[in-house]
Amino acid sequence: MITESHASGADDGQPFQRGYSFWTTRVSMLIDLLLPRRCVSCGRSGGPVCRACLDGLPRVGASHCSRCGGPTAVPMLRCRDCARTSPAYATARSALLYEGVTRLVVSAWKERGVRTLANQLAAIIGADIPARGGATVTWVPPDLSRQLRRGHHPARALARELAAQWGTPGGDLLIRTRPARRQARLARAERYTNVCGAFESRGPCEGEIVLVDDVFTTGATVDECARALRRAGATRVDVVTLARAPR
Ligand SMILES: [Zn+2]
Ligand SMILES: [Zn+2]
Repeated sequence: MITESHASGADDGQPFQRGYSFWTTRVSMLIDLLLPRRCVSCGRSGGPVCRACLDGLPRVGASHCSRCGGPTAVPMLRCRDCARTSPAYATARSALLYEGVTRLVVSAWKERGVRTLANQLAAIIGADIPARGGATVTWVPPDLSRQLRRGHHPARALARELAAQWGTPGGDLLIRTRPARRQARLARAERYTNVCGAFESRGPCEGEIVLVDDVFTTGATVDECARALRRAGATRVDVVTLARAPR
């Protein structure tokens, strides 16, 4: 298994390697320090998202499916979706509902790559979702063209913050084997076809893995990633995402 220190500080997927991404991360941190930011939601100073707006983001809460983490009217062991599918992950959990202000915040974070926001969003997840002791944290690997345009990879930033917060190791375990079309434009069934076989483990895996992504929509991407990790030897994969799209 390929592991790395969660405290390496670089954002290039390689342990302690100070390349292009190392400097772009530092330049973006400098810009964060120099430019006054307004909250993307209410416009008050204290951005990119002010404390009040962060605290008011809609939570998934206790009423959810214990398998896929989707919000339900009452807590249940297996929702209708989980009864007819058999995902490769053991559980999925999300902290926020992907609606209203959450959509604004996620969009600002993904497009602007504000480092402090990754830290704050990881704290929101950590408040609701406990660490899995002994598990290695990894992330859904980036689509290269989108990463180049944004200059950062939100899922990786979130995974690193979470690993640091939980005190668990982080590892760059997955690669994309081929480019896939953007999932956002596809219907549910097309999403599964689009990512089928699109991920591979970088090497043999062992033990339990926590797979991190930004938004859980149909679960097609994380399911395919979990499948690749299980194929490589992971005994269990649990998915953690910041937000959960409505069904
Ligand atoms: Zn605000
Ligand atoms: Zn479910």
